[in-house]
Amino acid sequence: MSKIYNFSAGPAVLDSSVMEATAKAAINYNGYGMSLMEMSHRSKPVMAMVEETESFVRELLNIPDGYHVLFLQGGASLQFSMIPMNLLGEEQTADYTDTGAWSAKAIKEAQLFGNVNVVCSSKASVYNHIPKELNQSDDAVYLHVTSNNTIYGTQWKEFPIPKNLNGYLVADMSSDIFSRPIDVSQFGLIYAGAQKNMGPAGVTLVIVRDDILGKVERAIPTMMNYRTHIDKDSMFNTPPVMSIYAVNRTLACLKENGGVTAIAERNECKAQKLYGEIERNPLFTSPIPEKDRSLMNIPFVFADGGDEADFLSFCDGRGLKTLKGHRSVGGFRASIYNAMPEAGVDALIKAMGDYKI
Ligand SMILES: *Cc1c(COP(=O)(O)O)cnc(C)c1O
Repeated sequence: MSKIYNFSAGPAVLDSSVMEATAKAAINYNGYGMSLMEMSHRSKPVMAMVEETESFVRELLNIPDGYHVLFLQGGASLQFSMIPMNLLGEEQTADYTDTGAWSAKAIKEAQLFGNVNVVCSSKASVYNHIPKELNQSDDAVYLHVTSNNTIYGTQWKEFPIPKNLNGYLVADMSSDIFSRPIDVSQFGLIYAGAQKNMGPAGVTLVIVRDDILGKVERAIPTMMNYRTHIDKDSMFNTPPVMSIYAVNRTLACLKENGGVTAIAERNECKAQKLYGEIERNPLFTSPIPEKDRSLMNIPFVFADGGDEADFLSFCDGRGLKTLKGHRSVGGFRASIYNAMPEAGVDALIKAMGDYKI
């Protein structure tokens, strides 16, 4: 079989070492003679594995004291409701930036729990940029951002500062967590579904500062309450152990390869190469202004029209898969997460150069 490069936006490419380790663990986990799937989450080896995964997260992101690291279920999408349910009182206001379809979904859920002030929106221009002017409220409990807009290919390069000095940032980092260094102390809460840059679907990472919890009056269902999962070390109910193991292997691999600072350099280099080809090649153009361009999801379109299906099948013939743009944007999108090797980007650039309309 010739080499396949998977440019999917999610579920996305994982390192081959992760697939190999997970396949082995599915049959016989670390010589215990049992599949990881049939082992109790309360057994010593499984508890140790989950603890190690947490320590990888803490080390790689340099998480300060006072933050909990949780492995939850329900995807980033459940966090859209869990966050306001736990943090936003009925009479209080939260500020939300509207930079894409995922932001809009987060806004919709928050509106069920309190006042939502949309501080900026790029919706009218199909979310093709990150707005620079934010109309923040004086008293917002938190300011919500989507750090990387997976569908449109925009990314916050610097995070805005909450106007309310007692407020804090909440960030959906589903599609760029572990891709670049972040200062966790800027945030009250960070969340990310695993299946973009961290592992397979089924587990969601939440990093939450302890002192922001327990401030709302409403009754919170047990499973929706962060405190439940904090008190039980993410083992209140049966956790998705196989998914957590794949995250464990992904983060172990990242650690071995120099951590987040080193991967950020490689991500920058891969993205600059691909944007370079989009600029150089008269057939293609980028819809995103340079300063807002994502290093993870790179959309591009034909500059003067062309047969999109024909280019996609040309790429497919070379093993370059899942390059179709999101239906709301059209054109093409190359998602080049941490696990996409530079050789995959080179192969795409070669295909773009060889393609004739
Ligand atoms: C994929 C994605 C989501 C949705 O994640 P689920 O885990 O499927 O709920 C949310 N936010 C962003 C930025 C995403 O890329």
